[in-house]
Amino acid sequence: VKQMLKTKRILNYVVTSHCLGSGSFATVHLAMDASAYRQVACKSIKRKSRDAIDKVMKEVNILISLDHPNINRVYAANHDSSFLHIFLELCTGGDLFSYIVGHKDSRLCEGETKYIMYQLLKGLKYLHDKLISHRDLKPENILLHSPGPYPRIQIADFGLARPKAYQETFTVCGTVSYLPPEGILALDHKHLGYVGMPADCWSAGIIMYIMLTGCHPFDYEKVPGESEWYSYRPSEDLGDMSSISQTSVRSDRMVKKRIVHGEVEFPENIWHNIPDAEDLCSQLLVYDHPKRATVHAALKSKWFNCELLELEAAYRERIVSG
Ligand code: ATP
Repeated sequence: VKQMLKTKRILNYVVTSHCLGSGSFATVHLAMDASAYRQVACKSIKRKSRDAIDKVMKEVNILISLDHPNINRVYAANHDSSFLHIFLELCTGGDLFSYIVGHKDSRLCEGETKYIMYQLLKGLKYLHDKLISHRDLKPENILLHSPGPYPRIQIADFGLARPKAYQETFTVCGTVSYLPPEGILALDHKHLGYVGMPADCWSAGIIMYIMLTGCHPFDYEKVPGESEWYSYRPSEDLGDMSSISQTSVRSDRMVKKRIVHGEVEFPENIWHNIPDAEDLCSQLLVYDHPKRATVHAALKSKWFNCELLELEAAYRERIVSG
Protein backbone atom coordinates (compact mmCIF):
# COMPACT_ATOMS: atom_id res chain seq x y z
CA VAL A 1 0.00 0.00 0.00
CA LYS A 2 2.86 2.33 0.93
CA GLN A 3 4.46 1.61 -2.46
CA MET A 4 1.21 2.39 -4.28
CA LEU A 5 0.90 5.69 -2.45
CA LYS A 6 4.23 6.74 -3.91
CA THR A 7 3.00 6.55 -7.51
CA LYS A 8 2.83 9.68 -9.60
CA ARG A 9 0.59 10.42 -12.57
CA ILE A 10 2.18 11.97 -15.65
CA LEU A 11 0.12 12.23 -18.84
CA ASN A 12 -1.58 8.84 -19.25
CA TYR A 13 1.06 7.09 -17.21
CA VAL A 14 1.22 6.01 -13.58
CA VAL A 15 4.87 6.08 -12.54
CA THR A 16 5.70 3.67 -9.71
CA SER A 17 8.50 3.92 -7.18
CA HIS A 18 10.04 0.70 -8.52
CA CYS A 19 13.46 1.70 -9.89
CA LEU A 20 14.59 -0.27 -12.94
CA GLY A 21 18.04 1.30 -13.04
CA SER A 22 19.99 4.50 -13.19
CA GLY A 23 22.81 5.96 -15.25
CA SER A 24 24.92 9.08 -15.17
CA PHE A 25 22.06 11.29 -16.35
CA ALA A 26 18.86 9.44 -15.66
CA THR A 27 16.82 7.31 -13.30
CA VAL A 28 14.39 4.81 -14.79
CA HIS A 29 11.18 3.68 -13.04
CA LEU A 30 8.53 1.13 -13.90
CA ALA A 31 5.33 2.81 -15.06
CA MET A 32 1.89 1.75 -16.31
CA ASP A 33 0.30 3.08 -19.43
CA ALA A 34 -3.23 3.52 -18.10
CA SER A 35 -4.81 3.78 -21.54
CA ALA A 36 -3.07 0.80 -23.14
CA TYR A 37 -2.87 -1.39 -20.01
CA ARG A 38 0.81 -2.10 -20.47
CA GLN A 39 3.97 -1.69 -18.44
CA VAL A 40 6.49 0.85 -19.68
CA ALA A 41 9.72 2.41 -18.43
CA CYS A 42 9.81 6.05 -17.35
CA LYS A 43 13.23 7.66 -17.77
CA SER A 44 13.58 10.87 -15.78
CA ILE A 45 16.44 13.18 -16.68
CA LYS A 46 17.35 16.16 -14.52
CA ARG A 47 16.98 19.31 -16.60
CA LYS A 48 20.07 21.42 -17.04
CA SER A 49 18.74 24.62 -18.46
CA ARG A 50 15.26 25.92 -19.05
CA ASP A 51 16.19 27.36 -22.47
CA ALA A 52 17.24 24.06 -24.00
CA ILE A 53 13.88 22.33 -23.53
CA ASP A 54 12.47 23.26 -26.96
CA LYS A 55 15.47 21.76 -28.69
CA VAL A 56 15.32 18.65 -26.50
CA MET A 57 11.59 18.18 -27.16
CA LYS A 58 12.25 18.53 -30.89
CA GLU A 59 14.77 15.70 -30.65
CA VAL A 60 12.47 13.59 -28.48
CA ASN A 61 9.71 14.03 -31.08
CA ILE A 62 12.03 12.60 -33.71
CA LEU A 63 12.62 9.60 -31.42
CA ILE A 64 8.84 9.21 -30.89
CA SER A 65 8.42 8.91 -34.65
CA LEU A 66 10.78 5.90 -34.80
CA ASP A 67 9.14 2.49 -34.94
CA HIS A 68 11.27 -0.61 -35.40
CA PRO A 69 11.40 -3.93 -33.48
CA ASN A 70 15.10 -3.42 -32.76
CA ILE A 71 14.85 0.18 -31.59
CA ASN A 72 13.61 0.85 -28.05
CA ARG A 73 10.30 2.66 -28.59
CA VAL A 74 9.84 6.16 -27.22
CA TYR A 75 6.10 6.55 -26.58
CA ALA A 76 5.82 10.03 -25.11
CA ALA A 77 7.62 12.73 -23.18
CA ASN A 78 6.71 15.37 -20.69
CA HIS A 79 8.64 17.90 -18.64
CA ASP A 80 8.23 19.87 -15.46
CA SER A 81 10.52 22.52 -14.03
CA SER A 82 13.11 19.99 -12.82
CA PHE A 83 12.81 16.85 -14.97
CA LEU A 84 12.27 15.58 -18.46
CA HIS A 85 10.27 12.32 -18.33
CA ILE A 86 10.49 9.98 -21.30
CA PHE A 87 8.20 6.94 -21.55
CA LEU A 88 9.90 3.95 -23.15
CA GLU A 89 9.09 0.41 -24.21
CA LEU A 90 9.89 -1.85 -21.24
CA CYS A 91 12.87 -4.17 -21.64
CA THR A 92 13.05 -6.91 -19.03
CA GLY A 93 16.30 -8.68 -19.92
CA GLY A 94 18.89 -6.14 -18.75
CA ASP A 95 21.60 -4.81 -21.05
CA LEU A 96 23.95 -6.58 -23.45
CA PHE A 97 27.01 -5.73 -21.36
CA SER A 98 25.68 -7.63 -18.32
CA TYR A 99 24.49 -10.42 -20.59
CA ILE A 100 27.95 -10.90 -22.14
CA VAL A 101 29.83 -10.83 -18.83
CA GLY A 102 27.35 -13.33 -17.40
CA HIS A 103 28.73 -15.95 -19.80
CA LYS A 104 31.76 -18.16 -19.36
CA ASP A 105 34.88 -16.27 -20.53
CA SER A 106 32.59 -13.25 -21.16
CA ARG A 107 31.88 -14.41 -24.70
CA LEU A 108 28.96 -15.72 -26.70
CA CYS A 109 28.87 -18.55 -29.22
CA GLU A 110 28.98 -17.72 -32.93
CA GLY A 111 25.26 -18.47 -33.48
CA GLU A 112 24.06 -16.19 -30.71
CA THR A 113 26.48 -13.43 -31.73
CA LYS A 114 25.15 -13.67 -35.28
CA TYR A 115 21.55 -13.46 -34.07
CA ILE A 116 22.32 -10.35 -32.00
CA MET A 117 24.45 -8.68 -34.70
CA TYR A 118 21.73 -9.25 -37.28
CA GLN A 119 19.18 -7.45 -35.10
CA LEU A 120 21.66 -4.69 -34.24
CA LEU A 121 22.40 -4.05 -37.92
CA LYS A 122 18.69 -4.16 -38.83
CA GLY A 123 17.98 -1.52 -36.18
CA LEU A 124 20.91 0.57 -37.39
CA LYS A 125 19.81 0.25 -41.01
CA TYR A 126 16.42 1.64 -40.04
CA LEU A 127 18.12 4.62 -38.37
CA HIS A 128 20.68 5.21 -41.12
CA ASP A 129 18.00 5.06 -43.81
CA LYS A 130 16.48 8.03 -41.99
CA LEU A 131 19.91 9.73 -41.82
CA ILE A 132 19.98 9.35 -38.05
CA SER A 133 23.10 8.08 -36.35
CA HIS A 134 23.21 6.81 -32.78
CA ARG A 135 26.81 7.87 -32.01
CA ASP A 136 27.07 6.16 -28.63
CA LEU A 137 26.63 2.50 -29.45
CA LYS A 138 28.07 0.18 -26.81
CA PRO A 139 26.85 -3.01 -25.11
CA GLU A 140 25.46 -0.97 -22.18
CA ASN A 141 23.14 0.87 -24.59
CA ILE A 142 21.71 -2.29 -26.12
CA LEU A 143 18.82 -3.70 -24.11
CA LEU A 144 17.45 -7.24 -24.05
CA HIS A 145 13.73 -7.04 -24.70
CA SER A 146 13.35 -10.27 -22.74
CA PRO A 147 15.99 -12.47 -21.11
CA GLY A 148 18.26 -14.71 -23.24
CA PRO A 149 19.43 -17.12 -24.54
CA TYR A 150 19.13 -15.79 -28.08
CA PRO A 151 17.57 -12.56 -26.81
CA ARG A 152 15.67 -10.05 -28.89
CA ILE A 153 17.64 -6.84 -28.62
CA GLN A 154 16.83 -3.15 -28.91
CA ILE A 155 19.11 -0.18 -29.45
CA ALA A 156 18.48 2.31 -26.66
CA ASP A 157 19.80 5.43 -24.94
CA PHE A 158 19.49 7.92 -27.73
CA GLY A 159 20.67 10.76 -25.52
CA LEU A 160 23.35 11.62 -28.02
CA ALA A 161 21.67 10.67 -31.28
CA ARG A 162 21.25 13.45 -33.79
CA PRO A 163 19.57 13.70 -37.19
CA LYS A 164 22.13 14.46 -39.86
CA ALA A 165 21.31 18.15 -40.02
CA TYR A 166 22.32 18.54 -36.38
CA GLN A 167 25.71 16.97 -36.98
CA GLU A 168 27.02 20.23 -38.41
CA THR A 169 27.52 21.43 -34.87
CA PHE A 170 30.58 19.13 -34.77
CA THR A 171 29.82 17.99 -31.30
CA VAL A 172 31.96 15.02 -30.44
CA CYS A 173 30.42 12.49 -28.19
CA GLY A 174 30.45 8.82 -27.43
CA THR A 175 32.54 6.58 -25.23
CA VAL A 176 36.25 6.61 -26.08
CA SER A 177 36.58 2.80 -26.36
CA TYR A 178 33.89 2.64 -29.03
CA LEU A 179 34.91 5.74 -31.00
CA PRO A 180 36.37 5.23 -34.50
CA PRO A 181 39.74 6.77 -35.47
CA GLU A 182 38.01 9.80 -37.06
CA GLY A 183 36.07 10.32 -33.82
CA ILE A 184 39.27 10.26 -31.74
CA LEU A 185 40.95 12.72 -34.12
CA ALA A 186 37.93 15.00 -33.93
CA LEU A 187 38.10 14.76 -30.17
CA ASP A 188 41.79 15.72 -30.12
CA HIS A 189 41.92 18.37 -32.84
CA LYS A 190 38.37 19.68 -32.61
CA HIS A 191 38.28 20.67 -36.28
CA LEU A 192 37.88 17.43 -38.22
CA GLY A 193 34.47 16.47 -39.47
CA TYR A 194 32.96 13.60 -37.49
CA VAL A 195 30.80 11.35 -39.60
CA GLY A 196 28.09 9.65 -37.55
CA MET A 197 26.92 6.68 -39.58
CA PRO A 198 30.32 5.08 -40.27
CA ALA A 199 31.06 5.62 -36.57
CA ASP A 200 28.03 3.46 -35.69
CA CYS A 201 29.34 0.73 -38.02
CA TRP A 202 32.74 0.88 -36.30
CA SER A 203 31.09 0.56 -32.86
CA ALA A 204 29.02 -2.38 -34.16
CA GLY A 205 32.31 -4.02 -35.24
CA ILE A 206 33.75 -3.55 -31.73
CA ILE A 207 30.60 -5.02 -30.15
CA MET A 208 30.83 -8.03 -32.50
CA TYR A 209 34.52 -8.50 -31.63
CA ILE A 210 33.73 -8.39 -27.89
CA MET A 211 30.88 -10.90 -28.17
CA LEU A 212 33.04 -13.41 -30.04
CA THR A 213 36.28 -13.01 -28.09
CA GLY A 214 35.37 -11.66 -24.64
CA CYS A 215 38.00 -8.96 -25.23
CA HIS A 216 37.94 -5.41 -26.50
CA PRO A 217 40.21 -4.99 -29.56
CA PHE A 218 41.70 -1.73 -28.20
CA ASP A 219 40.74 -1.56 -24.54
CA TYR A 220 42.73 -4.38 -23.01
CA GLU A 221 45.57 -4.81 -20.63
CA LYS A 222 48.75 -6.41 -21.82
CA VAL A 223 50.69 -8.57 -19.42
CA PRO A 224 54.27 -7.17 -19.40
CA GLY A 225 56.88 -9.29 -21.13
CA GLU A 226 54.50 -11.38 -23.21
CA SER A 227 53.61 -10.75 -26.79
CA GLU A 228 51.14 -13.44 -27.81
CA TRP A 229 47.37 -12.96 -27.89
CA TYR A 230 47.10 -15.09 -24.79
CA SER A 231 48.89 -12.32 -23.00
CA TYR A 232 45.93 -10.02 -23.42
CA ARG A 233 44.10 -10.55 -20.22
CA PRO A 234 40.75 -12.05 -21.17
CA SER A 235 37.69 -10.67 -19.49
CA GLU A 236 37.42 -13.36 -16.91
CA ASP A 237 35.34 -11.43 -14.46
CA LEU A 238 33.19 -8.39 -14.16
CA GLY A 239 36.07 -6.34 -12.86
CA ASP A 240 38.03 -6.67 -16.05
CA MET A 241 35.12 -6.14 -18.46
CA SER A 242 33.76 -3.27 -16.45
CA SER A 243 37.04 -1.46 -17.04
CA ILE A 244 35.81 -1.11 -20.61
CA SER A 245 33.22 1.40 -19.48
CA GLN A 246 35.08 2.86 -16.53
CA THR A 247 38.38 3.72 -18.13
CA SER A 248 40.77 5.95 -16.27
CA VAL A 249 42.27 8.99 -17.96
CA ARG A 250 45.59 7.15 -18.36
CA SER A 251 44.10 4.09 -20.01
CA ASP A 252 41.86 6.36 -22.12
CA ARG A 253 45.09 7.79 -23.56
CA MET A 254 46.42 4.29 -24.32
CA VAL A 255 43.13 3.22 -25.90
CA LYS A 256 42.97 6.37 -28.07
CA LYS A 257 46.56 5.76 -29.20
CA ARG A 258 45.76 2.18 -30.22
CA ILE A 259 42.63 3.25 -32.10
CA VAL A 260 44.38 5.96 -34.14
CA HIS A 261 47.25 3.54 -34.77
CA GLY A 262 44.59 1.43 -36.41
CA GLU A 263 45.85 -2.11 -35.95
CA VAL A 264 43.24 -4.69 -35.03
CA GLU A 265 44.47 -8.17 -34.25
CA PHE A 266 42.40 -11.22 -35.08
CA PRO A 267 44.16 -13.95 -33.11
CA GLU A 268 44.26 -17.29 -34.90
CA ASN A 269 43.12 -19.35 -31.94
CA ILE A 270 39.74 -17.61 -31.88
CA TRP A 271 39.05 -16.59 -35.47
CA HIS A 272 40.57 -19.38 -37.58
CA ASN A 273 37.36 -21.43 -37.79
CA ILE A 274 35.00 -18.47 -38.23
CA PRO A 275 36.43 -16.81 -41.38
CA ASP A 276 33.11 -15.25 -42.49
CA ALA A 277 32.74 -13.62 -39.08
CA GLU A 278 36.31 -12.31 -39.26
CA ASP A 279 35.63 -10.96 -42.73
CA LEU A 280 32.58 -8.97 -41.56
CA CYS A 281 34.23 -7.76 -38.35
CA SER A 282 37.30 -6.53 -40.22
CA GLN A 283 35.05 -4.77 -42.78
CA LEU A 284 33.34 -2.92 -39.93
CA LEU A 285 36.67 -2.02 -38.35
CA VAL A 286 38.20 -0.49 -41.50
CA TYR A 287 40.28 2.55 -40.51
CA ASP A 288 39.21 4.88 -43.35
CA HIS A 289 35.56 5.62 -42.80
CA PRO A 290 34.65 6.06 -46.50
CA LYS A 291 35.92 2.50 -47.09
CA ARG A 292 34.24 1.02 -44.00
CA ALA A 293 31.28 -1.35 -44.52
CA THR A 294 27.89 0.37 -44.36
CA VAL A 295 24.99 -1.38 -42.60
CA HIS A 296 23.59 -2.30 -46.01
CA ALA A 297 26.86 -3.98 -47.03
CA ALA A 298 27.22 -5.63 -43.60
CA LEU A 299 23.76 -7.19 -43.81
CA LYS A 300 24.73 -8.71 -47.17
CA SER A 301 27.73 -10.41 -45.57
CA LYS A 302 28.20 -14.12 -46.23
CA TRP A 303 28.12 -14.62 -42.45
CA PHE A 304 24.39 -13.84 -42.35
CA ASN A 305 23.09 -16.94 -43.98
CA CYS A 306 21.12 -19.15 -41.64
CA GLU A 307 17.56 -20.24 -40.86
CA LEU A 308 17.44 -18.47 -37.55
CA LEU A 309 17.75 -15.12 -39.28
CA GLU A 310 14.89 -16.00 -41.62
CA LEU A 311 12.79 -16.65 -38.53
CA GLU A 312 13.82 -13.29 -37.12
CA ALA A 313 12.85 -11.57 -40.38
CA ALA A 314 9.44 -13.32 -40.33
CA TYR A 315 8.93 -12.21 -36.74
CA ARG A 316 9.80 -8.64 -37.65
CA GLU A 317 7.36 -8.64 -40.52
CA ARG A 318 4.64 -9.92 -38.22
CA ILE A 319 5.29 -7.06 -35.80
CA VAL A 320 5.47 -4.43 -38.51
CA SER A 321 2.29 -5.61 -40.23
CA GLY A 322 0.59 -5.99 -36.83
P1 ATP B 1 24.40 6.65 -19.30
O1 ATP B 1 25.01 6.67 -17.94
O2 ATP B 1 24.88 5.49 -20.14
O3 ATP B 1 24.44 7.95 -20.02
P2 ATP B 1 21.63 7.19 -18.72
O4 ATP B 1 21.88 8.06 -17.53
O5 ATP B 1 21.12 7.87 -19.95
O6 ATP B 1 22.88 6.29 -19.09
P3 ATP B 1 20.28 4.71 -19.06
O7 ATP B 1 21.52 3.88 -19.19
O8 ATP B 1 19.53 4.99 -20.31
O9 ATP B 1 20.61 6.06 -18.28
O10 ATP B 1 19.29 4.02 -18.04
C1 ATP B 1 19.73 3.59 -16.77
C2 ATP B 1 19.31 2.16 -16.51
O11 ATP B 1 17.89 2.08 -16.55
C3 ATP B 1 19.77 1.15 -17.53
O12 ATP B 1 21.04 0.64 -17.22
C4 ATP B 1 18.71 0.06 -17.43
O13 ATP B 1 19.01 -0.80 -16.35
C5 ATP B 1 17.46 0.85 -17.09
N1 ATP B 1 16.65 1.09 -18.30
C6 ATP B 1 16.83 2.05 -19.23
N2 ATP B 1 15.92 1.98 -20.21
C7 ATP B 1 15.13 0.92 -19.89
C8 ATP B 1 13.99 0.29 -20.53
N3 ATP B 1 13.50 0.76 -21.67
N4 ATP B 1 13.44 -0.79 -19.92
C9 ATP B 1 13.95 -1.26 -18.76
N5 ATP B 1 15.01 -0.73 -18.12
C10 ATP B 1 15.59 0.35 -18.67
